[in-house]
Amino acid sequence: MTHLSPPLPHPDFTAAREILFARTDYAANAAAPPIFQTSLFSFDTYEDMAAVFAGEPRLVYSRGDNPTVMEFESLTAALEGAEAGRAFSSGMAAIAAVVMAFVQTGDRVVTVRNVYGDAFKLFEKLLVPLGVRFDYIDGTDPEAVAAALPGARLLYLENPTTLTFEEQDLSALTALARQHGVITAIDNSWATPLYQQPVRHGVDLVIHAASKYLGGYSDTVAGVVVGRKELIDRINGLTYPYLGAKLSPFEAFLLTRGLRSLPLRMPLHMAGGLEIAARLAAHDDVEQVFHPGLRPTGANRSLTGFGGVFSFEVSPAIDVPRFANALRHIRLGVSWGGPESLLVPLKVAVPATPSTVPNPFSRFGISPRLIRLAVGLEPVESLWEDLSTALTAARI
Ligand SMILES: *Cc1c(COP(=O)(O)O)cnc(C)c1O
Repeated sequence: MTHLSPPLPHPDFTAAREILFARTDYAANAAAPPIFQTSLFSFDTYEDMAAVFAGEPRLVYSRGDNPTVMEFESLTAALEGAEAGRAFSSGMAAIAAVVMAFVQTGDRVVTVRNVYGDAFKLFEKLLVPLGVRFDYIDGTDPEAVAAALPGARLLYLENPTTLTFEEQDLSALTALARQHGVITAIDNSWATPLYQQPVRHGVDLVIHAASKYLGGYSDTVAGVVVGRKELIDRINGLTYPYLGAKLSPFEAFLLTRGLRSLPLRMPLHMAGGLEIAARLAAHDDVEQVFHPGLRPTGANRSLTGFGGVFSFEVSPAIDVPRFANALRHIRLGVSWGGPESLLVPLKVAVPATPSTVPNPFSRFGISPRLIRLAVGLEPVESLWEDLSTALTAARI
């Protein structure tokens, strides 16, 4: 199998391991981070309490700071090379907190076509009625981005984009955004900080659905945003406390535990994803495979590796429901990032008739023959046998 992209170096993730396994001095010399399962932190004296109300930083209430959550926030910020971070109860909570902290009625946001479906619904169902405008552009075309930026407030990116995995030149887009005084945010869930560090390419705010690779075990729904302290402070002063979607200490503990195996898991997701994608690309019943590793790329690639999630379009000779039902190993399921491989046939989600409510699949022209596959940690040969057998069984 030939991969079209230039070979990527095999990183040993030295910098990430320095961060993840640095000496820590937890309470009572605990080796693992203690879970501070408490809603509030009390004060010894009136004066202590008054100092907090006068602005002194101190632990007060777990809708604000909680030490277990702070451990996850600071590790993620360090991995991304960012100054500060804030965790949330879901990836969507993090996305909403970022966008709503920076836009107001009358503002315009430039974002990529094929943006994550629920982000699209947040924009269209909640923010458009509040008077915010959204332009969905082709992020692979810097001229289209340059034309859309003047007067915009926020450039909201994904690299690669959801479902179609289109790749863009982050450094070029952030340089354009800076020229026009536009804040930039990116959803980096797919690449993780191990395979893309958007801050180093000039992005202001980096968001993760920590439910996916950062957590890594399909047992937690969470989100996080990292970036310059001044921008995180704005979120801390507005959307974080008053939308109130804080992360629980127990889930923060699970996420910190998950982060520590990230450098072990990601190379397996990457290698499995690339191998299965390349085999599908050579299969007679597959028309197209959408995976950045199978595309030629420009010199300015910010990805230094690939997540294990990609999509492929089966030929009209394949009965999609029959294909899905013929799988024996790979499960049908939303989400991704855990050890188990998961598949979504987009036919279940693409409306048969044009929908009256905003729908990302109709809006972005997603084919009902598109299949999303998240490659987990299983042996590639087991996955391939499952997919190739199911394709044969589904031939019309
Ligand atoms: C899952 C996902 C989200 C949303 O995260 P939740 O934790 O489910 O709210 C955002 N962006 C991408 C790319 C995702 O895959």
